[in-house]
Amino acid sequence: MRRYRSVLASILALVMAFVVGCSAPQVEVPKTYTQAQLQQIDKYNSDILGLRDRMTRELVSAIQNRKWTEVNNFIHGPLGTLLQEMNYLTRNLLPNEQPQARKLSREVFEHLVEVGDAANKGAVQEALASYGQALIDLDSFLKLVPKG
Ligand code: ZN
Repeated sequence: MRRYRSVLASILALVMAFVVGCSAPQVEVPKTYTQAQLQQIDKYNSDILGLRDRMTRELVSAIQNRKWTEVNNFIHGPLGTLLQEMNYLTRNLLPNEQPQARKLSREVFEHLVEVGDAANKGAVQEALASYGQALIDLDSFLKLVPKG
């Protein structure tokens, strides 16, 4: 038993050395973007700007014209894509920027859910107010994006 234990202990020690050895490079947090990251970020950024543009025209006019099915389709279609692109972009940001970007993405998502709830009630003003909040949070998100 004693012998077995010491073998186990040395295996564990070996495993620990390996784990520490492997994780050492990750301790160094990157502080600048690589050229490849900036290009990737730039692509997501322009996709997001395109969807933001559609949101300010198509979503607003659908709400104002009480086209609630269109509102719902827009939230689940193009704006689902918007949230996905925000997630991709967030993963490419520097580690210290990510928590704030994630928080703002979450906010945009929640306000869009509110727009959907307002649409289901046929509440124009409520839908417009939540849309406005989503836009504010989206613009705060875009301010975190490095310009390449
Ligand atoms: Zn908000």
